[in-house]
Amino acid sequence: MGCSWFAERRHRAAIAGVAIAAVTAIGWICWDLLFPFCFPMRPEELNRFTPARRFYDRAGEAVHTMRGDDYRFQFPVRLADLPPHLITVTLAAEDRNFFRHDGVDPAAVCRAFRQLLFHGRIVSGASTITMQLVAMIDGRERSLSRKIRQMGRARSLERKLDKQAILEAYFNLLPYGGKLHGIGAAASYYFGRPPRELNFAEAVLLAGIPQQPNRLRPDRHPEAAKRRMETVLAMLVRQGLLSENDVRAVLQLPLRFRDFGKPLWPISEDPQFFQLVRKRHPERTGYRTTLDSELQTLGRAILRDALAPVENVRDGALVILESATGKVRTLIGTLDYNDPRAGQVNAALARRSPGSALKPFLYGEAIDGGMLCAETLLDDTPLSLPDYRPGNFDGTFHGRVPAGEALADSLNTPAIRVLAALGVERVLRQLNRFGLPMGKLQSERIGLSLALGGAETDLLSLAGAYAAIARGGIFLPCRFLEDEPEPAAYRIWRPGTAALTLRMLRQRPLPGAAGVDAAWKTGTSNNSRDAWCIATTPEWTVAVWCGNKDGSSAPELVGGTLAAPIAGRVMRSLYRQTPPPRWHDEELLRTAMLCAQSGLAPTESCTQLQPGTTAADVPLQRCRICRNLSGGNSGEKPTRILSPAPGNYHADTSGRARFRLESEPAELHWYLDGNYLGIRRAGSYLELPPGQHRLFGWGGSGFRGDSVELLIRPRKEAYNSGTTAAER
Ligand SMILES: [Zn+2]
Repeated sequence: MGCSWFAERRHRAAIAGVAIAAVTAIGWICWDLLFPFCFPMRPEELNRFTPARRFYDRAGEAVHTMRGDDYRFQFPVRLADLPPHLITVTLAAEDRNFFRHDGVDPAAVCRAFRQLLFHGRIVSGASTITMQLVAMIDGRERSLSRKIRQMGRARSLERKLDKQAILEAYFNLLPYGGKLHGIGAAASYYFGRPPRELNFAEAVLLAGIPQQPNRLRPDRHPEAAKRRMETVLAMLVRQGLLSENDVRAVLQLPLRFRDFGKPLWPISEDPQFFQLVRKRHPERTGYRTTLDSELQTLGRAILRDALAPVENVRDGALVILESATGKVRTLIGTLDYNDPRAGQVNAALARRSPGSALKPFLYGEAIDGGMLCAETLLDDTPLSLPDYRPGNFDGTFHGRVPAGEALADSLNTPAIRVLAALGVERVLRQLNRFGLPMGKLQSERIGLSLALGGAETDLLSLAGAYAAIARGGIFLPCRFLEDEPEPAAYRIWRPGTAALTLRMLRQRPLPGAAGVDAAWKTGTSNNSRDAWCIATTPEWTVAVWCGNKDGSSAPELVGGTLAAPIAGRVMRSLYRQTPPPRWHDEELLRTAMLCAQSGLAPTESCTQLQPGTTAADVPLQRCRICRNLSGGNSGEKPTRILSPAPGNYHADTSGRARFRLESEPAELHWYLDGNYLGIRRAGSYLELPPGQHRLFGWGGSGFRGDSVELLIRPRKEAYNSGTTAAER
């Protein structure tokens, strides 16, 4: 009997136990699984508001601020960068059980429920920090259904993120008055310092603001803020975190407010540089840029000043790079950002036809392949290509021209011949490596017009490519941040190639830059739509574009007369305080005897030699002209001037130098310094006054040209021989 009673009682207890367990399990499933499942929240939702961004120049001065979404000033900070007392005080004020609950604080819910019963409304929010965080994303609205949804989402979030991450997101979204969001913006705006430098009193003051941000902000309502601060301190005492003595000590601490009269977050009148930086580094919110503010201001003044009197040219762009590092010190893509027409178009990034500005890359590539040096003679004679007939800018041809002069004078047909010899494909590939992508798949379409600007590129990329030549043939991407790791550099040309290309680009002085030995090249696009000039030294690379953003042409748009003097003025001002550029190229170049007929390395067949400068590390191609002549089996004989030989001469007693003309073929069209002399036969005589002369003969079966350079010096009294003396 006793036994069965006992058994029955045990049986009932078991049933009750199972029932309780079942109810608990169902409750737990509802609470822990179903509830968060019904109101899911993804951690990415916390990034709903794009934060604001701050930009500093190379000197560390704040120069520009970009507001975040909803015009917010919100500058995220990491939890690790917050002082512990700030976290403690905020937790005490907002959610003292934060580290113990799982998104919803049951004790607080009970308290709120009791208040609802007794007062008919909810007095304390019962909101945990996680729930407040959800509310800051979803918008604040006090209704019961909202509250339940908030709890579900808070619990969902807690299952996916740890407490630290939630707290960090919370601190970065808290409202501190107006458009101030997050502790980073608040500390900066009210106290002008980062959160980690706040003292205890300042931390308490800030911890009190989010309760009613617009009524408690200390810049507008200092009294209310102070009273709220005392309330928070009393709360800390009640929670046993502070003693009355501590409170007195805290109240003694200074509140180091910023001068609210001073603007804090400057907004630049031309934000294009910063827009570009942001696009290249979207992950950041604070940027220590490479911008040199003074240089940017100076550059803009020079550009505006130079273009103001030019009637038909409205726009200009300027890029200044530090050649060695690729750091962008200035980038101006508009003269007036607020111009309603196209003020916001960044002309420094616009892809346009570069005219002749790509020619140095053709010549350099040919030098690197041993195909030429500065003295190598190239043909500047009419070319008939399938779809067009390129001529020169001034409409004339020059016959046989040394490559250095052809580049410096920007002659077109020699450049096209060089490009044809190299192959368009090869040149496009190298331009790509120089940071000038031209669309590798379009090589057939671009064709030989590439030499004359048939493919588009932008000013910033051009500046980067020229800086790579100045760097000795090493490419380095342009940099916009002082604190980014140095990008990987790679070599494109041999050092000697770059040195010789630069020599060729230094043959003429840059207009407006007296005393500054710069390597430079201009470009003018077809129909005068764009004028370019890029000038480079071991220290600086300056790139200038002038034109109209709508692409309209203007007679003034000529690289040499409009863009070059601007680049020159900028260059000169860059060297105003420092010694002139130093090119250390002696080791990279050497003087060698070259065949006078071709300007290439001589063979046994070459009879006339002259000195020339070649890249020390590139073997130069051998002359083939002379061999063909002695072999005599080529169908088309090249045209040759046999006499006078190129070189330096002295005038005779008559004050002139007298030459006998000898040529192959014997009858040629002769030009002296670009002026047509007529047809002359071998054996006739020519008299030249002192000075530098260029004699050009044109004709023969292939109708080719040849030229010689002659320097005639005035008669020396000591010389009394009546004949001319060639100096070799
Ligand atoms: Zn030769």
